[in-house]
Amino acid sequence: MRVLERLEELYAIGGGPGANRPHPSAAEDEAHRLTTGWLEEAGLAVEVDRDGNLVGRAREFSDVWVGSHLDTVPAGGKFDGALGVVAAIEAVERTGIGSVVAFRGEEVGCVGSRACVARGGALPRAFLELHVEQGPALVQRDLPLGIVSGIVGYARGELVVEGRAGHAGTTPMEGRSDALVIAAREVLRIRDAAHAIEGSVATVGQLEVEPGGANVIPDRVWMSLDVRAPDAARLDELIAAIGFEPGYRVEPVQLGTAARAAFRSALEEHGVEAIELPSGAGHDAGILASARVDAGMLFVRSLNGGVSHSPDELSSPEDIALAVDVLADALRRVASSR
Ligand SMILES: [Zn+2]
Repeated sequence: MRVLERLEELYAIGGGPGANRPHPSAAEDEAHRLTTGWLEEAGLAVEVDRDGNLVGRAREFSDVWVGSHLDTVPAGGKFDGALGVVAAIEAVERTGIGSVVAFRGEEVGCVGSRACVARGGALPRAFLELHVEQGPALVQRDLPLGIVSGIVGYARGELVVEGRAGHAGTTPMEGRSDALVIAAREVLRIRDAAHAIEGSVATVGQLEVEPGGANVIPDRVWMSLDVRAPDAARLDELIAAIGFEPGYRVEPVQLGTAARAAFRSALEEHGVEAIELPSGAGHDAGILASARVDAGMLFVRSLNGGVSHSPDELSSPEDIALAVDVLADALRRVASSR
């Protein structure tokens, strides 16, 4: 299958182990050059915008974009981003409509799509992105594909707990106020708070223990917090349940109605049960949806337990072939849905 051959070609750029095309880098540039050749071969009108994003336009309905990104995390997987671009070339070439787009620097904060939106560049009417799931939900439901309902919102902040320092040898257990023991209970409480709200997650990823001596009872612990939820109401609920003041918050984004409906019809056409699931990670589709583009995403089942950002990332050739068919079908439907 040409899609798989092209994924191998992209994977070989930058050397191993894993995919190494971080943004910005010569390897990312090389991936854009290689893809430019494929777009020209497909007879598309190639253009590079001011931010380095690559666009290949078909003659008809070029205001419907299909694509993803070509950059990767260091030692990343073969499918994240790259699959969305090579599948887009198949869909656009097969249908003769739409534009293929490869955004710059998705892995470092969607820099390409954000720049495009920020400078008020010409945005598409709709955007379709095929992407590996990067999680186990589709495997668990025994489904090859799923429609993304939206991108989760997230908040970051911190919690501090205080106790009383003392000598580790001479202070009896009775009557101690050990800040790290209190913090341990807090970590469990935070986990339970996220458990109680469907679709939400909470993580304490960093701890700082003071004064930090092996023979001193801790008197202060600082904890980082990262909490995520599929919609604003659940994000509010989770923040309130944990009880912290977010220092940073990114609102959840609903993906576009027309794009989701097109994926739904295309899946039904192919006899695949159409389920919707939220994305726990940010994507270019989320950036465009925030800018009122009717953006939609289709997830392909991730094998190996849903591992991603790793050379172990894997999707099957059968799932990928089906995903390309559904993507092409959805492209036709979105283009004619005006
Ligand atoms: Zn990606």
